[in-house]
Amino acid sequence: MIELNTVTFAYPVGDEVLSGVSLTVEKGGLLGLAGANGSGKSTLLSLMAGLFAPSRGSLEVAGRVSPGHEGDIRNVCRLVMQDADLQILGATVEEDLLLGRARGQAATAEARTMAERFNLLKYWDSPVQTLSWGTKRKLCLTAALLDRPRVLLLDEPFSGLDYPGVREMRALIRANREAGLTQVVSSHDLESFIDLVDGLAVLDNGRLVLNGPAESVLDHVAEHSVRAPGSWTACRTIVPWDEGEPR
Ligand code: ADP
Repeated sequence: MIELNTVTFAYPVGDEVLSGVSLTVEKGGLLGLAGANGSGKSTLLSLMAGLFAPSRGSLEVAGRVSPGHEGDIRNVCRLVMQDADLQILGATVEEDLLLGRARGQAATAEARTMAERFNLLKYWDSPVQTLSWGTKRKLCLTAALLDRPRVLLLDEPFSGLDYPGVREMRALIRANREAGLTQVVSSHDLESFIDLVDGLAVLDNGRLVLNGPAESVLDHVAEHSVRAPGSWTACRTIVPWDEGEPR
């Protein structure tokens, strides 16, 4: 569903921030993308979302190729950014979820059903600036899913969330997976999601230093002391979350 071939990228000003990154994500798969702050995770997700084109190399998302077809990629792929304030455009939950959609009872009913699934219905008429950080994040996720993407990219979905918020976000990611959605989730906090992912890719200074099944990648991190997210030591010892138990 997603294939990157030696993707290299530099912003118009500055050095290369991604160098020769190659990876694949199978249809319905869930890839964890880890790396320290500044390692290139957000940039890589932006490329996968068709927001930028690679400077060199190429990528393919659901059969759409970049460079060349970024607009087509944007039709099938949604990126939920780390900072929800950059993505919320409506003044209320209702307005944000209906923005850019056909008006009418069917669209409203669909948005309300999705909002209910995400526990957002109680905020339906609320001004968005009154919502918590976690609720804004869920609003962005709801809006993204209403677009029925084939690929969902989540940039640091757990950051700034409290424990119930992390649990809820994990449940939503799990439900997406059960629905067959292909997902890439970036995080510097491996503890929150390591037991959910099929594969784990680790970026270090724009290079893909590790990539494979999560458990073997973690073993490798331990063996080679690769510079990796600060929490990796902790996640070596963590017992996978039981959804029913407090951590
Ligand atoms: P991460 O998501 O892992 O924190 P980013 O992709 O945000 O990493 O950043 C990777 C590198 O790209 C950093 O050095 C960052 O300063 C740089 N960068 C990010 N956005 C821009 C931009 N718009 N223009 C120039 N450099 C940028």
